[in-house]
Amino acid sequence: ASPRTDLPVSEASEVLRRVFGYEEFRDGQQEIIEHVIAGGDALVLMPTGGGKSLCYQIPALVRKGVGVVVSPLIALMQDQVDALRAVGVRAWFLNSTQDPDERRAVEAAFSAGELDLLYLAPERLRLESTLRLLDGADVSLFAIDEAHCVAQWGHDFRPDYLALSVLHERRPDVPRIALTATATPATHQEIAARLRLEDAHHFVASFDRPNIQYRIAPKKEPKRQLLDLLRTEHPGDAGIVYCLSRASVEKIAAFLVENGVTALPYHAGLDPATRAANQARFLREDGVVMVATIAFGMGIDKPDVRFVAHLDLPKSLEGYYQETGRAGRDGLPSTAWLAYGLQDVVQQRRLIDTSEGDATHRRRLASHLDAMLALCETVECRRVQILGYFGQEGTACGNCDTCLSPTESWDGTVAAQKVLSTVVRLLRERRQKFGAGHIVDILLGKKTPKIIQHDHDTLTVFGIGTELSDVEWRGVVRQLLAQGLLAVEGDYGTLVLTDASAAVLRGERQIRMRRDPVRTAPKAAKASK
Ligand code: ADP
Ligand code: ZN
Repeated sequence: ASPRTDLPVSEASEVLRRVFGYEEFRDGQQEIIEHVIAGGDALVLMPTGGGKSLCYQIPALVRKGVGVVVSPLIALMQDQVDALRAVGVRAWFLNSTQDPDERRAVEAAFSAGELDLLYLAPERLRLESTLRLLDGADVSLFAIDEAHCVAQWGHDFRPDYLALSVLHERRPDVPRIALTATATPATHQEIAARLRLEDAHHFVASFDRPNIQYRIAPKKEPKRQLLDLLRTEHPGDAGIVYCLSRASVEKIAAFLVENGVTALPYHAGLDPATRAANQARFLREDGVVMVATIAFGMGIDKPDVRFVAHLDLPKSLEGYYQETGRAGRDGLPSTAWLAYGLQDVVQQRRLIDTSEGDATHRRRLASHLDAMLALCETVECRRVQILGYFGQEGTACGNCDTCLSPTESWDGTVAAQKVLSTVVRLLRERRQKFGAGHIVDILLGKKTPKIIQHDHDTLTVFGIGTELSDVEWRGVVRQLLAQGLLAVEGDYGTLVLTDASAAVLRGERQIRMRRDPVRTAPKAAKASK
């Protein structure tokens, strides 16, 4: 067949090419854009890097009036606006960083219809003056970016987002498009309900990121492991290393620098100028490694991030997915690597126990953590597990650690019983509680000073676990914690039973465990699809 040259080029494609310089739409973009141009409401669930911004930017340019974008990321508004202006789009923002004169100038330009896009911080919608400004203007659409911030069950809740339904109440005539990269079925429903978008068309893109290789390694010497990863697989590559605390960010950044890596720290404790400078270097220079807390990354648009490494366990699978999603936006092979061990489980469980908030809040945190732990402990394809969490189906990917070096599972019932009954004996016979290390020493029959001191070599369970190594026993304890069959208590990480432990002790419940691989990196690393 001869090529069809008679097809009309849609206005959207024309803007894509002329303004943004791209030849083709990515998956899903065109349908969303046409729908919004035609005046429809839309709820867009698309993974990080999928290209959400164009989904409201192009309709705002095609439709009459100014597109109003609500975004929680004040720090990034300047960057977004600069990028748009560089391609000739008349964009501006209103937020608390501006002085009154500048704000007045923006408001005047907005009212005069001299803008294509106006970015707004959500808290501005609490101001009557902002609402009046919107009432009188010719608005082409409302875009609500990072829409999951409205979900109280989510991990990024922002109270200001609850007020966003006001947009629809004040201006029911204006189409709305809400966008997010976080979308468990529950969050999805909550966004629709809270933003009154039940009747909107829901566009759900696939959450698969086939170019990202997901790997979760047993944590041994995390600093060494990280350096190995950088040296063997990602020399000179840009990447992000996430740590839980500011202190470890500083420590790891310094360690990498000592070892010849161009690494910079980023956390909320640094002064704003240093933070901005480090972020700018990461974005503009090649091959910079950013060592950061999760304060870094939302809205960062750097296409060639080749790896995202986590040295501490993320609190939720949503968070993990979003953080790892910053790798490989350009579609090229990238690595998501996480080091995970017993102490991570102990620490995260303790953080939940000591967190502020009521029992419901703690249960919510615990269920977020459980999903993350299930991903760490699975012997199945990591990708299938991640997609399943987001309500999507997948088949074994061939490009994650468990696919590349299949992990065995084994019947850990007897091992579990040995650990649990040691905890029981200490409590019943001695009224004592101990942490994982000591329990393992008892099982191995080690005559450590602590064991002698407490006379624990006379316990009937002393030395009943010589079939496994120290590392293997710690793996067993970790998995019992992950599965909720053991719990930690107090500041010293002492182990206690849970309601679910009894069934295991009575032999009514079988426990499958993963056999942790000895090798840290699969040989076929960097395989692409
Ligand atoms: P998201 O907000 O979904 O994380 P962005 O809108 O920031 O993603 O887009 C990610 C990257 O992909 C950006 O660099 C953007 O310019 C680019 N991009 C988006 N759409 C296209 C397209 N149709 N063709 C080429 N590049 C695109
Ligand atoms: Zn896989």
